[in-house]
Amino acid sequence: MSYDTVRGVDPALADALEGERDRQEHTLAMIASENHASEAVLEAQSSELTNKYAEGYPGERYYAGCEYADDVEELAIERAEELWGAEHVNVQPHSGTQANMGVYLAMLDPGDKILSLELEHGGHLSHGHPANFTGKTYEVEQYEIDAETGYIDYEALDSLADEFDPDIIVSGYSAYPREVDFQRVQETAESVDAYHLADIAHITGLVAAGVHESPVGVADFVTGSTHKTIRAGRGGIIMCDEEYADDIDAAVFPGAQGGPLMHNIAGKAVGFKEALQPEFEQYAQQVVDNAKALGQRLQNHGFSLVSEGTDTHLVLVDLRDSHPDTSGTVAEEALEEVGIVLNKNTVPGETRSPFNPSGIRAGTPALTTRGFDEEACEQVADIIYEVVDNPDDEDVKAEASAKVDELCEEFSLYEGDGSITDYE
Ligand SMILES: *Cc1c(COP(=O)(O)O)cnc(C)c1O
Repeated sequence: MSYDTVRGVDPALADALEGERDRQEHTLAMIASENHASEAVLEAQSSELTNKYAEGYPGERYYAGCEYADDVEELAIERAEELWGAEHVNVQPHSGTQANMGVYLAMLDPGDKILSLELEHGGHLSHGHPANFTGKTYEVEQYEIDAETGYIDYEALDSLADEFDPDIIVSGYSAYPREVDFQRVQETAESVDAYHLADIAHITGLVAAGVHESPVGVADFVTGSTHKTIRAGRGGIIMCDEEYADDIDAAVFPGAQGGPLMHNIAGKAVGFKEALQPEFEQYAQQVVDNAKALGQRLQNHGFSLVSEGTDTHLVLVDLRDSHPDTSGTVAEEALEEVGIVLNKNTVPGETRSPFNPSGIRAGTPALTTRGFDEEACEQVADIIYEVVDNPDDEDVKAEASAKVDELCEEFSLYEGDGSITDYE
């Protein structure tokens, strides 16, 4: 996008916006939760709908002048229902966290019990962390990843569910490289008479494209974010059966939010339309193929992967075996210097701390949007190896940086006219 108008009003802000645009073009976004929204999504998100108040739902608004807001929200809902096959969809949550809040508010009372995965094992703040409203409002017990295998220990989850007697069990994670057995978690939830919330924030796109098992129609509630693998711009979404529709809608508005971000809902609508095209299935499959290729090549270089591989869009590298003296923080910083942007991450059985953990998490959704294939991802793995193996060697880093520049140029984010390259 061009920021000429902003520049006329506010050069300092234009510098920051252009700086961010150029940073995205000249670096490799490997933070597993990030992606590059299309030109159409960006345009819709910056529309005049940012001016409009539309409290309520289509056909039942608290303000006048909502006819186009209604059209936009109905398009987003219809397409989401088609993409995920849900009976009821609420597209108003401002974010994935707000989507989860909607479910908790609808189904739980303060003091009720949540059973969820530990943040340090790949869970999310909004699943009951003490620093989050969930940790302050509800009683929380947490399950873990088996540190030996790197997989969810479903049997341990069963015993914990029996012991704790939760009101809701949360599945769906931020740093789990394997397919989640939603049916298995559903059986556990039913056995203790708890609701099951499947939070597919990271894998919305993989589920929509059918490359990951869907929890829709299995779990009672499915929440997601719209800016990760589904690539529909920033926001959240809730899906459920018709029987919970009114409770969920009332919990989102007026329960948790005021006026919906109609411009973001417009972004969701057009992003969902893009995801309904056959090309999106190829994209999602390529995301997974790329993550497998990246992981395999990292393993060839001697790195250990949590669970020894991936079924999804991300790999979690445990540096302790191959590089015991290199923390995730050191690796993250050295890689950022050469233009590979990913994040340090805790690993199951963490022996350092959340601020200086032993792992790094790397995802392929954004690279795949730029057109990366398996071979290009193997090149990225080679660069990651060189840098993590020599985090203080300036010559190695200079060479790595030049290779990243070449890849950014080969898989350019923008066409000559400045628009974002279409995915294939
Ligand atoms: C990313 C994520 C969310 C949503 O986060 P927001 O930043 O609030 O949109 C929710 N749950 C999980 C598991 C996530 O990874």
